[in-house]
Parts: sequence; C-alpha cells; structure tokens
Amino acid sequence: MSRRQFQRTMLSINIKPANPLEKDSGCISMEVTTKPEEEFSNNFTPVTTLSEDTTEMTVCSDISLSKTNSTSTTVVHTTAECVVDNFASDNYVNDCDQISLENKLQKLISKYHVSHNFVNELLVILRSEGLKLPKDSRTLLKTPKKHEIISIEPGSYIHIGIEFMITPILTKYFDKIKHTSIIKLSLNIDGLPTTKSSKSNFWPILISFIDIHELSKIVVPVGIYHGKFKKPNSISDFLNPFISEMELLLVNGLSINNKTFFLNISQVICDAPAKAFILNVKGHNAYHSCNSCIVEGVFLNNRMAFPDLNSSLRTNISFRNQHDEDYHKGFCPLTKFNTNIVDNVVLEYMHNICLGVVKRLLLFWKKGKKLVRFLNDDISNEVSSELICLKAFFPKEFSRSPRSLEELEYWKATEFRSFLLYSGPIVLKGRLKNRSTNTLCYYIAPLDSCYLVIHVWFTMMLPMIY
Ligand SMILES: [Zn+2]
Repeated sequence: MSRRQFQRTMLSINIKPANPLEKDSGCISMEVTTKPEEEFSNNFTPVTTLSEDTTEMTVCSDISLSKTNSTSTTVVHTTAECVVDNFASDNYVNDCDQISLENKLQKLISKYHVSHNFVNELLVILRSEGLKLPKDSRTLLKTPKKHEIISIEPGSYIHIGIEFMITPILTKYFDKIKHTSIIKLSLNIDGLPTTKSSKSNFWPILISFIDIHELSKIVVPVGIYHGKFKKPNSISDFLNPFISEMELLLVNGLSINNKTFFLNISQVICDAPAKAFILNVKGHNAYHSCNSCIVEGVFLNNRMAFPDLNSSLRTNISFRNQHDEDYHKGFCPLTKFNTNIVDNVVLEYMHNICLGVVKRLLLFWKKGKKLVRFLNDDISNEVSSELICLKAFFPKEFSRSPRSLEELEYWKATEFRSFLLYSGPIVLKGRLKNRSTNTLCYYIAPLDSCYLVIHVWFTMMLPMIY
C-alpha cells in the first residue's frame, strides 16, 4: 500500500450525522459510509454507526460495537475475512451453485456497502417470503467476537487487534507469501473529522502490507479512537494497546498454517501534524520542527522558513536519546520498537510535494506578488487551453484528467502530481522565466529525496519573493 493510497483511503471515508437531534441529547450518533470510488471499494466496508451512550456502533460490515455500561463497551464483530472478501472474486453471482444464500448476501452487502438498516428491512421481506435467513444483519454477517472499548482521555478507543485483522488475510494469501519470512507493514495514523459542524473526530490506526503485490491494496484498521472535541491527550495512552500487541508479535511472530511469519514495521506514514503528534515532537511550524535535520527555522513575513541547507541530520540514536531538547516534547512510544525512527517515519509525498511545493508554486506564479507572477492572464489562458487539449491524450490509468488553471484551487493531489510529472514541463515550456523553469526542473528530479526538495524550494523562492 503506497502512502498515497493510505491517504486516499482515509479520505474515502465520508461521515455524516445519522440524526442531528441525538447529539443534543448527549448521545453521539453518526453514520460513516465510504465514497463510491473504485480504488477504495475495499477497506472500511459499508456503514458505521456510533452511539456513545445507549446504542451501538458498526465500524464496518464485519465490526459492530455495543455499549454495555457507562464505563466499558463491548464490540461484536466477525472475522476480518470480510476485508479479504472485498478483494475476492466478484463472480459470486456466477458461483450461485457453489455458495449459500447467506454467503451471497454477505458478499453483496460488502461489495456495495449496503447499510445495516437496509439489510435488516431486506431480511424482513425475504423472511416473509419463506426464506430461511436471520433476522438481523449482524447475525447474517457473523459477529461472534467481543472487544472492549476503553476510555482514553478525552474520548474512547477500541483496539480491534493486529493479529485478529491480518491473520485471515495472510491465511487467504498463504500460497503467495509462503516463501516470505518477514511481513513488512506500513503504519498510518491520522485524524478524521466526523462532521463539518462539530469537532467530533476519529483517529484510526491503519496498517497495510508492503512489498507483497497481492496485498498491496489491503488496508486494515487495528484500532480506532473517537473523541467528541479533540485528539487523544496522550500519545502513549493512545498507542499503548497497539504497541503492547505489536511488541509481542515482533518477538513471537505470527503462525499461519504452521509457518511463522515475523512482522516488521517498515514505514510510518502521516501528514505533518499527525507525525508531530505520534513522534511527540514540536509541530511543523515550530522553529525546531524539521524531522530530518536540526535546522533552526527563521520567521520571515509571517511564515516559518528553513533556509540552512547544511544542518546536521537527525539520527536514530539522537532521536531516541532526545538530544535536541528544542525538538522533543516527551517520550515517543514508537521507540519501543527496534526500528530506525528517523528513516522509517517518512516524509510523505502527497502533502509535501503535490499539495505543498507544486500547489504553492502554481499559486505564486498565477496569483503571487508581481516579481514571481509569471503566469499573467494571457499566459494562464494559453496554459489552460493546452491542458484541456492534453485531456484527450491522458490514458485511463490517470485518475483525473487535466483541468484549467481557473480551477487551480480545486485541483486534487493527483492533478498536481500529473502536472509535475507529465503535463507541466510541456505547457510551461517557454512561458516561464529561465530561472523559474530551472526551479521546476529542480523539483522534478529529486522526487526520491523529498526533504531536499523542501529545502531547495524555500532557498530558491525566498530571495525571489522578498
Ligand atoms: Zn531539515
């Protein structure tokens, strides 16, 4: 799973209040559905409902929570096979003779993200026609296991379980991975607002598999925090259940079909605020906030700049020993793992390059100060026309076709990426001053070294602006 897919998976979750009135009565109730994007028809299956006080929460078709008392909550869900089934063959209709009606309905519900309310009503109708089916969607989807929801200030947290979620996946794809002894995992943590009208938010802990092609599109939640107002107060409390289980798995491995697989956290991918949170370091706007080096920022014209290119790099040892007191805020739970924190907590491409450098550059060129406004209205219209002409030559593998610069504010990350890598050098050729064209080339070249790009960008753009 690439970092981009991670981010898009998060963005694919669309949450809306199920009944706004319930919030006023002190009870949070919300409905989470996944966007019908093809790429993300996989992970969080259909409908999520959460009610903190009285009712229940269905995290996906295979996970449902029900609160038993005021201090603890149990969760009931089926195995993670549901996650795997989402990647299985879609030919269940053609395989009618092979599987039961219940299994067909399970796959249908998973595939189309059908709400549990709809399934319940459908079951009533089917049962009235004499079909032997359960009354409730949770029974249909098999929800035998229980988990506990714990209180993590200022919200609550459910630990679904790493072993619980990945065992069915590794079992299903055993033939593909049986020659592998180490399963490399990627970890993603980020905040997810649940509504536009409140501060209610989820903080899911997601893991995915890297270096295994067959599993590259699978992302599974292993723990989810929900807060009414804010993220967890303590990163240690938040990650404690995850860290505890992962420590055991890292030591003992995971036994699948009598073969022991050892796990390895090879990547931690987060956006800048989430990264600062889980590393327990200063936020990305602070003077000592660079995750890669010990550069001290300079506050110029209401923004933080890092013009020094020769600062010493951070190392795994310096991070673990918290040598830079201006950088660290406290203990980082990830240091419990025997992994290189500095190398494995990576700078992610989507926010830094696509929505960072490239978007900022285009906005400067189009709407910035006169010194750097290379794309005046006439040139901007020419570029827009050429971008639209290029539309016909974009193959279907590109998720979005190029759009006019008039809609620059609404461009998605994939559009900035295709501009940077493909269309940009064509439509900008001869239209920017030499120095600026060279600047763009600078950005195209070192994509493998994102941190260099950031420094180069600040260094080259600042003298032009000020
Ligand atoms: Zn740096």
